[in-house]
Amino acid sequence: KLASELSILDRKHLLHPSTNPKAQVQHGPKLIFSGGKGIHLHDMKGNTYIDGVSMLWNVNLGHGQKELADASYQQMTNIAYASTFYGYANEPTVRLAEKIAALAPGDLNTIFFTSGGSESNDTAFKLSRFYWQLRGYTEKRKIISLRRGYHGVTVAAQRATGIDAYRNFSGSIDPDIDNAKAHLTECELGAKDHPEYEGSIRSIIEKEGKDRIAAVIVEPIQGAGGVHIPPEGYLKAVRKLCDEFDIHLIADEVICGLGRTGKMFGVDHWEIVPDFMSIAKGITSGYAQLGGVIMKEHIRDTITEYDDMLAHGFTYSGHPTACAVGLKNIEIIERDGLVSNASLMGQELEKGLHYLEDKYHFVTNGRTKGLLAGFDLMEDPKADIPFDGSVKAATTLVENCYERGLLIRPFDFEPGMNIVAIAPPLIVNKNDVEKIIQILDDALTAFSQKLKN
Ligand code: PLP
Repeated sequence: KLASELSILDRKHLLHPSTNPKAQVQHGPKLIFSGGKGIHLHDMKGNTYIDGVSMLWNVNLGHGQKELADASYQQMTNIAYASTFYGYANEPTVRLAEKIAALAPGDLNTIFFTSGGSESNDTAFKLSRFYWQLRGYTEKRKIISLRRGYHGVTVAAQRATGIDAYRNFSGSIDPDIDNAKAHLTECELGAKDHPEYEGSIRSIIEKEGKDRIAAVIVEPIQGAGGVHIPPEGYLKAVRKLCDEFDIHLIADEVICGLGRTGKMFGVDHWEIVPDFMSIAKGITSGYAQLGGVIMKEHIRDTITEYDDMLAHGFTYSGHPTACAVGLKNIEIIERDGLVSNASLMGQELEKGLHYLEDKYHFVTNGRTKGLLAGFDLMEDPKADIPFDGSVKAATTLVENCYERGLLIRPFDFEPGMNIVAIAPPLIVNKNDVEKIIQILDDALTAFSQKLKN
């Protein structure tokens, strides 16, 4: 009864993000969650699901984590909110800043807090441009991003996103953001004869001139673009390119950051130090809305020499309750060894994906870094033939998994693309991973039977 009441109210009063609005109003919500514990979620119909993507790659400690709830309660009953504008400070905000500085690579040791990933990326763009202005480069404004990169939905983050539906939504424009057409190719290493060279970061810099470009933004591993791990040498080459032309490198660690990939930050796999690092999601495991931009010491030093008001900041920049949750979240990640658990369980997941690739000829390109994983579905991988668009392979498979109690995500925003992503909470054990693979196995069997019919 409650479920049908909520469904009616939802259809009437709620506009859902990243959802087909017409289908939403016609059919109501697909799932109404009633609770969760660990890697499991429950709905109002009494079904239980494994949360195979940590909701939006963020619930890294799993659901119903009491210690995070307690940290939030303690802070809320003390002082739930205090501003960090006008020089005000509070303990959890300062302590979390110190903790993140200690964890971040190199001399990335100052953070500007936000409420999420999009705000973090917008902030990184603005601080990068501001830094160059302070240094006298008033034309150094352009941001270069990558095809299939996802950086959020505020206007600047939207335009940096390299997924057309998001990038073009509502016709927003920003002439100071350029989305490179090349996708993780060796063009950045200088391969001028590569067919995608014209769309590469390097060729954009050459065309525009370094004095017009503020920064390049990349995810260490692209998430919402379909889990794309860069080829070896790629990120190092982009770092070198940025150094060569005096351009900032922004690493968008919103998904990778805080342990998801089996290292504390995604860039740690390739031992590069970006100039800015955006974080969000995993910083609180989704228990509070928090993000931030971490910057290098010399950037902070240049900005802190500025003798006027820094006209940027969100009401919730450095929210004490969110920061208290963030501190507790990191404490638990370290105490329970969850970064190395992500690495170990990622190896189990990798084995499972290999098993599925061997068993089903249409499963291919399985890839994992810690607990960030994906694979492709193709009609004939050997001959590089994708499924016909009418098959909707990734969506069908994800639906099959849903019917069997596993929530994962499909990506099919480009013709011929059928990618499935898996990113369970970092607390998974071997049995959990086996269960995920077993459900995928059953769902793939059902999918292959459908193909035959
Ligand atoms: N950057 C990356 C890599 C993301 O995956 C996301 C969200 O999925 C964002 C930025 C945007 O974050 P938010 O939705 O918190 O604004």
